Amino acid sequence: MSVLQQFINEQGFAEPMTPAMYKQRRRVIKFINEAKEIVGEMPRVEVRIVTFHKADVTPLGVAIMEDIYAILIDWKRIADMDDDKLRFVVWHELVHSWFDYSHVEDYDDEEIKEALSPLMHKSVKIVESVWGRTPNKEELSANLVRIITY
Ligand SMILES: [Zn+2]
Repeated sequence: MSVLQQFINEQGFAEPMTPAMYKQRRRVIKFINEAKEIVGEMPRVEVRIVTFHKADVTPLGVAIMEDIYAILIDWKRIADMDDDKLRFVVWHELVHSWFDYSHVEDYDDEEIKEALSPLMHKSVKIVESVWGRTPNKEELSANLVRIITY
């Protein structure tokens, strides 16, 4: 079994694609392309539109970076999200996947906390409680530049 398939089995399940799922997949890919415009040439990222099944966690997306770069996104949980929020989720997972950074909360060093913030806070909820809203494209673009130049 491939690393990706094993990961999907652990985290969620990939259903047969429906038009509603393709629609969300296209949105995710749009934001991956946006990120590439800022960071330049990066490894191709596998996108899997899934439903997460773990009862104890309700992630919107998860990323892996082993032999392959991949993100899994729960399509039902992003369906009602506006673009700013979905961009946040997708870019967050991309930073895990491409650069192997963890969450702001996992570091003690103030400089790296600042470089990774707000994009790499553990959840959108945390960011919204700190910022009062979801950061917009301009703010997240500046954050992405801080991360790649850190
Ligand atoms: Zn994360």
